[in-house]
Amino acid sequence: MSSCGRGIVVGGGAIGLFTALSLARSGGRVELLDLGMLGQESSWAGGGIVSPLYPWRYSPAVTALAHWSQGFYPGLAAQLFAQTEIDPEVHVTGLYWLDLDDEDEALAWAVREHRSLQRVDVADVQRAVPALTDGFGRAVHMADVANVRNPRLVKALRAALQQMPNVTLHEQCAVSGFIRESGRITGVRTVQGDMHADQVVLAAGAWSGDLMKTLGVELPVVPVKGQMILYKCAEDFLPAIVLAKGRYAIPRRDGHVLIGSTLEHAGFDKTPTDEALASLKASAIELLPALADAEVVGHWAGLRPGSPEGIPFIGPVPGHEGLWLNCGHYRNGLVLAPASCQLLADLMLGREPIVDPSPYAPAGRLDLTV
Ligand SMILES: Cc1cc2nc3c(=O)[nH]c(=O)nc-3n(C[C@H](O)[C@H](O)[C@H](O)COP(=O)(O)OP(=O)(O)OC[C@H]3O[C@@H](n4cnc5c(N)ncnc54)[C@H](O)[C@@H]3O)c2cc1C
Repeated sequence: MSSCGRGIVVGGGAIGLFTALSLARSGGRVELLDLGMLGQESSWAGGGIVSPLYPWRYSPAVTALAHWSQGFYPGLAAQLFAQTEIDPEVHVTGLYWLDLDDEDEALAWAVREHRSLQRVDVADVQRAVPALTDGFGRAVHMADVANVRNPRLVKALRAALQQMPNVTLHEQCAVSGFIRESGRITGVRTVQGDMHADQVVLAAGAWSGDLMKTLGVELPVVPVKGQMILYKCAEDFLPAIVLAKGRYAIPRRDGHVLIGSTLEHAGFDKTPTDEALASLKASAIELLPALADAEVVGHWAGLRPGSPEGIPFIGPVPGHEGLWLNCGHYRNGLVLAPASCQLLADLMLGREPIVDPSPYAPAGRLDLTV
């Protein structure tokens, strides 16, 4: 679609929105379709940490995209703010991991990857984050980790796309399948009728696997439910992200504190549960005891697009020319979004790719015989 042609992007979460932006900036005509309103699913529900939770536990494929995006986010946020007057609030607070079981692996990874992760004294953590409970024995710190206010990020992306004359946004426009002619995908079937294009990108998050089934392709992307709760505290209550026993607290600039998250295999059910509320509250209080006196002001669930090893599918679908995937970002879709979408646009436009595309290629990772 080299700065020409018409592209359809199916799914308007962070991945679909960034994909549409990357393609539209190269001059193509882009139609972005979402079943509901843009940016209201996982990309709204997530925590927005601009790092994998335990980066050393992921493959180099995830690390490569995460590093590229981390460098890109601050400039991107400033640009979106200038263009749309919506601030995605990229908030660099650093992240403290407490009592890690695999601290040595974390430190070795940091040396290998030239990251700023360091062992720190627990007394220093306590001084930096007075609200933190005492009793932790060990800590490591990465000072440059940020979080992005993801509901505002998707809003800013939507507003930026709305300003582009070569982009059309179609909300409440569910895609039910693909149009296939002579071995090529030439469009999509939607509740608003058939739509034709030169290229189609599937970026439907947790729903991507179901849509690929309509072509007889088994794409291993499944919904993994995650619940979060929200508190409103004083602006200086929590100056950094803290993470212990798999649970984390994320400070927004205005004093909102998010506590996450659960990992549940419950199909496409997004109902928040009392059980998760109780468990997240207990984790919140264990981490930050003053929250025992605070009120929970929000509780929601989202569906992560789970994939093997959390490695997204980015690239063309073999046997279905004209169809591209950008999905399966699991727990890291917000941090990986800018790099994933830049990479996909590079591949579609025949540009030099920002990273080696082979680990993300759908070829060899799909069952085409279903
Ligand atoms: C609790 C929780 C915490 C998280 N924390 C973080 C974090 O701190 N950092 C991080 O990087 N990531 C985090 N994530 C993961 C991140 O949110 C996801 O990986 C990311 O949002 C996936 O983006 P997406 O655009 O692929 O999917 P989504 O945002 O889910 O978007 C998919 C879109 O496709 C649309 N769609 C579906 N079916 C159709 C159809 N048939 N036709 C048209 N449109 C369709 C949907 O309506 C939706 O808008 C978290 C997720 C959760 C749930």
